[in-house]
Amino acid sequence: MEKKYIITIDGPAGAGKSTVSKTLAKKLDYIYLDTGALYRALAYKTLKLKISLDEVSALANLCSSTTVVLKNIDGQMKVYVDGEDVEEKIRTEEVGLAASKISTFVVVRERLLNLQREAGAQGGIVAEGRDMGSVVFPLADYKFYLDANLEERIKRRYKELLEKGASVEYKSIQKDMFARDKQDKQREIAPLKAPDDAIIIDSDNLSVPEVVEKIIFYISIK
Ligand code: C5P
Repeated sequence: MEKKYIITIDGPAGAGKSTVSKTLAKKLDYIYLDTGALYRALAYKTLKLKISLDEVSALANLCSSTTVVLKNIDGQMKVYVDGEDVEEKIRTEEVGLAASKISTFVVVRERLLNLQREAGAQGGIVAEGRDMGSVVFPLADYKFYLDANLEERIKRRYKELLEKGASVEYKSIQKDMFARDKQDKQREIAPLKAPDDAIIIDSDNLSVPEVVEKIIFYISIK
């Protein structure tokens, strides 16, 4: 039987990880795991219950009293929080920023670690996030780090949110993304950085199909 690999794709917000990972997973007939959705899901509940985003005991309580389940729906792992499908509700910048805040806490990261590893246990997965290659799947078969400059990432995120019909201001995306980059890169646990053994792809001047093609090329030669 053909070996089913673990492929990790890490990188900052707006670098195109989601579209690239989803497209790649479809092409390979692999599962797509968006780990940002897990952090967003817990952040969504934190905001909903008006729990403080930086109080460790409150977050620990939230983590132990919340059920988080991943279900494979047509090849994509969807997140359910206390039985609720939260996919639509977690895609705002507010939730993204809150996710970035709570993800600096060990208790939150540990709560989500096994879920992610279990999803990848059989291989045949494209896992996207910030610490896929460094922490969650250090032995992954292929590790990629997708980057793009900040201005380009802000433009992409702005366009994406507008297309979804959200009412957003360019300036506020700029501010949020800058804050999120800083928080994700400077946190003590599992900071965003390219693993030493990752292939770095700069997507500034590349379309999604071009990035996917590059990844498939690297997989074919390794
Ligand atoms: O990828 P996405 O923008 O949905 O992630 C939301 C936030 O969740 C990130 O800014 C990051 O702080 C956190 N995250 C993380 N580790 C991951 C995935 C996401 O810390 N593997």
